[in-house]
Amino acid sequence: MNNLLHNSQINPARWITRFAPSPTGFLHLGHVASALYGWQKAQPDGEWFVRLEDIDIQRCKPAFIPAILEDLEWLGLHSGRPVLRQSANMPAYQATLATLNAMGVLYPCFCTRSDIMRESAAIFSAPHTAPDGSLCYPGTCRHLSDQERQDRISQGLHHVLRLDMGKALQWVHQHTQGGPLTYQDQERGTVVCHPELFGDVVLARKDIPASYHLCVTHDDAAQGVTLVTRGEDLRPATDLHRVLQTLMGWSVPLYSFHPLLCNAEGRRLAKRDGALAVRAMREAGLSAEDVRCKAGFPHIFER
Ligand code: GLU
Repeated sequence: MNNLLHNSQINPARWITRFAPSPTGFLHLGHVASALYGWQKAQPDGEWFVRLEDIDIQRCKPAFIPAILEDLEWLGLHSGRPVLRQSANMPAYQATLATLNAMGVLYPCFCTRSDIMRESAAIFSAPHTAPDGSLCYPGTCRHLSDQERQDRISQGLHHVLRLDMGKALQWVHQHTQGGPLTYQDQERGTVVCHPELFGDVVLARKDIPASYHLCVTHDDAAQGVTLVTRGEDLRPATDLHRVLQTLMGWSVPLYSFHPLLCNAEGRRLAKRDGALAVRAMREAGLSAEDVRCKAGFPHIFER
């Protein structure tokens, strides 16, 4: 990755922000709030653009892509750059994985989900979960010898690539001179990270050859995003992203998290709240201003 942005180049008067939906359904009110939050942060002189995070081929459907882009345009949100699809950027993620592998911080893991559950129960008495709710890996395959790894790979055994968090944090601590790993939150100031709570996360699978964490961190750096705006639900992942940024020597953006919109029952808005899809509201006769207003951003284009 060339043209990396250095922190000294971050210009707080001109934030570069992005909206990075995954095309797993139609754009709904929660997305609109997220898109407008980032858009507003980039005003008046910054840049806001759209990126499509479509690497999960099971969950993402190409048919939603034109619908999402059309709905954004209807809302008055025009991407300041050509829209990057992560599925078209795979060589860049593979190159990142190759670098991490050469640093010795990746290892192949052959465990199935039931292996992990069984092993976790044996070690911890109950399976551990990471701060993002994912299952913590008990580290079984971390202890395999190189020969055992090679043997299993040549037998064609299915495997994923995991980050060896212990080794990764040794690198990180050298870089931070033993101080804590942190990020800057625009609202809260300095936040201390606890990536060790995630354990050895998966960075690549057979069906999804690069994980969300890897791709989002790569692209934010490669695209020069200076202020990452996203929902509070993704805050815990930031600790992990800081590890990847440090290992790869990528620029570190500022972060800003927005609260999640809830439905009438107080639950977080989700795809199943179909009536809150932008196109359903449009078909019901609402104007773009009505929808922006419902998302909590009234009159934002009236300046
Ligand atoms: N693609 C992610 C999602 O739709 C958001 C990207 C991010 O802000 O990290 O939830």
